Order: sequence, then C-alpha cells, then structure tokens
Amino acid sequence: MTQPIYVTQPFLPPLEDFIPYLQQIWGSKILTNGGPFHQQLESALCDYLGVRHLALFANGTIALVTALQALRITGEVITTPYSFVATAHSLLWNGIKPVFVDIEPNTLNLDPKRIEAAITPHTTAIMPVHVYGHSCDVDAIQKIADNYNLRVIYDAAHAFGVQDQRGSVLRHGDLAVLSFHATKVFNTFEGGAIVCPDARTKLRIDQLKNFGFVDELTVVAPGINGKMSEINAAFGMLQLEHIGAALARRKEIDVEYRLQFGRIKGVRCLNDAGESVSNYAYFPILVQPDYPLSRDALYEKLKEAGIHGRRYFYPLISDFPMYRGMPSAQRSNLPVAADASDKVLCLPIYPALQAPDQQRVIDIIRGG
Ligand SMILES: *Cc1c(COP(=O)(O)O)cnc(C)c1O
Repeated sequence: MTQPIYVTQPFLPPLEDFIPYLQQIWGSKILTNGGPFHQQLESALCDYLGVRHLALFANGTIALVTALQALRITGEVITTPYSFVATAHSLLWNGIKPVFVDIEPNTLNLDPKRIEAAITPHTTAIMPVHVYGHSCDVDAIQKIADNYNLRVIYDAAHAFGVQDQRGSVLRHGDLAVLSFHATKVFNTFEGGAIVCPDARTKLRIDQLKNFGFVDELTVVAPGINGKMSEINAAFGMLQLEHIGAALARRKEIDVEYRLQFGRIKGVRCLNDAGESVSNYAYFPILVQPDYPLSRDALYEKLKEAGIHGRRYFYPLISDFPMYRGMPSAQRSNLPVAADASDKVLCLPIYPALQAPDQQRVIDIIRGG
C-alpha cells in the first residue's frame, strides 16, 4: 500500500539541526516572554519579508483577535465569506458583526466593487484575505477605506513572502496578520504574527499579547496571552534557513500542474502571479461543468487512490450556523463565492512531494 498523500505536509528540517537550538534554550532557561529566539525571529522575519515591524504570536487566530483590539475596531466589519473560518471568528470574539461581501471571480478575493454597497454608519473596518497568497486589489480597497474613514486589516495568513511590483504585500492596510501553523508555507508548529507600520503600534500590540502589562505593576488593557514560546521561535529561525529551497520546489510543482492542466478540459487553474512574487502556498483547481465528474466525485476518486485533496473553501464561512442567519450571509448575496466554493479543490503541493506522486495526481484528474 502506498503512503497517503495529503494536500500539504509540514516542512521539517533534519531533527539533528534543531538540537543546538534546544541546547541554547536549556542553557538559558528562558522558555518564553520575549526571550532571545523571539527577538531574533522578529528581526529575521522583518529582514526576510521586507517589513518594518512585526509582533510574533502563539497562533494566527489570536493575532487576528488582537489586531482588531489594537485598532479598537467595533460595530461592523466588511469581510469575505471565502476564507478559513478564523477570519470571521476573530470578529465575533471581539463582539463585532461580520458583513459578508462577495468575491471577485479571477482571484477569489474580496471584490472592491461590492464593498461600498455594504457600508453602513456602523462600519469601522474592512478585513480582506489574500486568498491562496494572491494579493487583493489593495489600491482599490485602500481608496474606499480612505473615502469612508475605515481601517483595513488584512488576513495575510496565506501571504508569507508574497510580493507585488513594489515590495511585500504585507505592508498594505493598517495591519496584516500572518499564520505560521504547521500547514502553512512557513511554520513554527503553531504561530503567527502581526505586521505593523510603526513602533508605537507594535508596542501596543506587544502589551495586548501579554495580558495588557506595560510594566511589572501596570496593566492598561484586558490583553490576552498570545505570546510565542522560545521553542516555536527557535524552530522558526531554523525553518527560515530552508525557506528559499522550499519555495523553489513549490514553484516547480506549480509550473508542472499548470502545464498539464492546460491540456485538460474542464479544469481551470487560477491565474499565476504574473509579475508578482508568489509563495505557491496552495494549488486550487476549479472543476468546471464540462469536466466529466463533479468536484465531489473527483475528490472521492482521488481519495480512493490515497490522495487527499481539500475543498478550501467549502463550506463558505457564511454557511456555518453562527453566521448563516445574517442577511449578508445569504447565498443570493454571495453568488461568486458560492460558485467557487462548489467547484474548488486544492491539490497536493509541498516541498517533499515527489514527481511521480504529482504525476499520479495529474493522471487521475486526466482520466476524468
Ligand atoms: C490558517 C489561517 C488562519 C488561522 O491561523 P492559525 O495560525 O491556524 O490560528 C486564519 N486565516 C486564514 C485565511 C488561514 O488560512
């Protein structure tokens, strides 16, 4: 029996390479609370990503929750239904009402043309997602935000290392939030970060992730415990040494899928990154009506062959019980997202994916 193939496999450098990091932690006895590895990783990631300030977190979801608190967001926030459920959950955790707006058919990102119609006197911010690492239309979104005096917080969980023509996409918006979960391009087992534009905002975020402490005796906000531990930060430092090779291998896999699927009727790939720098985080296909099988039948067929694709993002966030009663959550309000959600299938893409295994995936899809 061949090994099952999953949509992703966490990237793990050789175990022996991690031992010296552990020895340092055991030597210093500093396990958390902004220790040396935490500081090193913050500064190494700023350099690698090309951003000014970044605050590490225990995971991306707590980073999202804290980002909203840092900017004191209240009322209603416009967001996308086509994302991982944590995007909207971070709003509910802050007592904010999510307002779902449909996506754009080419990138599957929040459609700027539909945002204005959803703005009410209670709207305070927009929370778009750079889905699959494809940059949102950041200029159009910022223009609307400026016109209506709204904040923009990007869920950039998929966008590690993604660049547009002028630099990192993480510099856009008031804040951008990363996830370093095991399934992501860059992982620290669990982890996340907020990218912020200035030192003052970072200071507030650092206080909020540490219970609201500003010094030993003073607490200024109902902060949470969102700190990244030294083990996770040390692993991030090790992982960063290998990120270039990991991205290069992802790119080869992406190129091969595109080449092969160009010749298969009924399989649509999303546009490649063009002149931008992609991270090849995911490889979604949209199974069209002229493909011989339905999306779900293809999903099952692959699964029978030991290949576990994922239907990201199906169901839509707006279909889950805590959201589906909201007027903006109705499928009639979200036709493009509903359509993509019914067609999408993410295929295996990760550095250790072997060429013959990728070929097997392609052959099964070609077989129809
Ligand atoms: C992974 C992910 C998150 C959550 O990040 P965690 O680190 O798992 O908490 C949030 N939003 C999106 C779009 C994600 O893919």
